[in-house]
Amino acid sequence: MIDGAATSWVEVSSECDFPIQNLPYGIFDANDKRLRVGVAIGDSVLDLAAIHDAGLFSNTMLADENVFASSSLNGFMSKGREAWTQARQRISELLSSDNPTLRDNSALRSQALKPMSQVNLLMPVAIGDFTDFYSSKEHATNVGTMFRGKDNALMPNWLHLPVGYHGRASTVFASGVDIRRPKGQTKADEAAAPSFGASRLLDFELEMGFFLGTGNQPGEPIEINQTKDHIFGMVLLNDWSARDIQKWEYVPLGPFLGKSFATSISPWVVTMDALEPFRVASPKQDPTPLPYLGLDGAGAFDIQLQAFIQSEKMTEPMRLTATNYKYLYWNMFQQLAHHTVNGTGMRTGDLCGSGTISGPTEDSRGSMLEICWKGTKPITLPDGSERKFFADGDTVIINGWCEGEGYRVGFGDVRAKILPA
Ligand code: CA
Repeated sequence: MIDGAATSWVEVSSECDFPIQNLPYGIFDANDKRLRVGVAIGDSVLDLAAIHDAGLFSNTMLADENVFASSSLNGFMSKGREAWTQARQRISELLSSDNPTLRDNSALRSQALKPMSQVNLLMPVAIGDFTDFYSSKEHATNVGTMFRGKDNALMPNWLHLPVGYHGRASTVFASGVDIRRPKGQTKADEAAAPSFGASRLLDFELEMGFFLGTGNQPGEPIEINQTKDHIFGMVLLNDWSARDIQKWEYVPLGPFLGKSFATSISPWVVTMDALEPFRVASPKQDPTPLPYLGLDGAGAFDIQLQAFIQSEKMTEPMRLTATNYKYLYWNMFQQLAHHTVNGTGMRTGDLCGSGTISGPTEDSRGSMLEICWKGTKPITLPDGSERKFFADGDTVIINGWCEGEGYRVGFGDVRAKILPA
């Protein structure tokens, strides 16, 4: 673990998401069409492909092959937990205040350290499969109350297993990629027949996702206390949702086209090693889950999360909600154990979404469906316009961070603008 008091020779302000305690991985190019792996440090990106070429990973498991000269993190992720730990250890040494290797090598430094503002951050992972869970009790209760009434809010299975569904990996986009409002089949309650057209109820879902670093053989479940060795890291995730399409299509097999048109993720993958100091207990689970879902130790992480809206007329974003990853009822280790317990094979680069993360209060709800309570409580923006769901031209931004003593381990943000259908 990197000490909370450690510092880098790269200048990092206390408000910055990327101190030496973080060291998240991403994919970038420097407007040269050459994609490679980078690490965020302060307002800069360290080019790990260049660092590897310079021989600075020679005493690690990664010495032979430059896994960082790649258009995705998958090669690095597939090397496994010990390689991840060695890479993190080596990078933290090279960036440490008292280490002269890179600090005093101005030629290599100018080649390998780029201002973040001058590079393009791209999709970090080649995603094989995408699964989205539904693990916030507050969210499930809010949605259930809206559609089935308070007494039947949670379905009978909800407290016994982490509900999820298979999503669509091909339409997971990196932050900054615009989202087109989907068209589809919808049916208003009072209408006699369905109609086809642009979704009118476009929503976001404030989520986080975790990436599988290493998978499992089909037929060989990942035991819950082994799941941590398979999870590489986390990103912010916006699970865009067309509520009108979803409402009409979801019976009996669950979400389909109302979800599959777009999911946005943040560009930096924050590793589980960086998040470890922020591990906290999950909410108490009652009834006690079946033994295969019983995790030894704490399973949640204290990650503060916010979502914002900015219309084309607004000069700065307005906050929609503030919540926390720690509110999730089902933790990621339970999600992964449950996912594979039937023998499902997971692979390097698979993405699992947490489900919308709503907190216990009205100002901590993670979707417009809940914030505006099914359209009954519209919000007014600083430009004077009203929203129940999103309008074309709106940009939605999610950010998140863990608060350490005098430093932050942050995720940057995920943002996307809505284009007309
Ligand atoms: Ca979702």
